[in-house]
Amino acid sequence: MRLVALPPSRRVWFFDLDNTLHDAHARIFPSMHDQINAYLMRRFDIDLGGANSMRRDFWEKYGTTMNGLVRHHGASPAEFLRATHQFAELADMVVHENAVRHALARLPGRKIIYSNAPRHYVDQVVRTLGVARYFDAVYSIESTRYLGKPSVAGFRMLLRKHHLDPRRCALVDDMLENLRTAKRLGMATVWVSPVKKSVPYVDLRVSSVTQLPGLVFRYAH
Ligand SMILES: [Mg+2]
Repeated sequence: MRLVALPPSRRVWFFDLDNTLHDAHARIFPSMHDQINAYLMRRFDIDLGGANSMRRDFWEKYGTTMNGLVRHHGASPAEFLRATHQFAELADMVVHENAVRHALARLPGRKIIYSNAPRHYVDQVVRTLGVARYFDAVYSIESTRYLGKPSVAGFRMLLRKHHLDPRRCALVDDMLENLRTAKRLGMATVWVSPVKKSVPYVDLRVSSVTQLPGLVFRYAH
């Protein structure tokens, strides 16, 4: 990873939030899928089976259900995200390792969160994780006018805003599509995944971000 050859003060780490800094598979995603299904059933007057397949089709074709709805049905992203990210007990649903805080503290370089989730949710999760102090900035889907990952335009907006050369930056994310865009732009890529496979546009794979500081240290020496 070319990035680690730079002095730590020049490195910029973009972190995804869900399934990167905490585990959303356990409790949050199942609830979110239920909320999305309920939204689709209401809006299109379809049954659960229809909603499930629509959700999956959009996810596969456009990366998110929201992108498919906006593209084909003129849905309002804000309204959709409000309707599908309601968690009464969100703080209790965030499953995370306390070691993540320690890892962020040890990882040299500036850090920025770039999430595809809406602002109210991102802020609440960041608060629950207790990691706000490690980040220079926290971006949600609204920050790039709903041009979230993996859109090139969204990345470019944030790079421009911080006057960043992509070659100084890395994306840490669990979604391969997002890493592919980051690599195309010249960024380094860290895949957070338990799956052991080599992917041409992935520079480094970790099963948890807690492994990152140790690996970067090893690389740099
Ligand atoms: Mg994620």
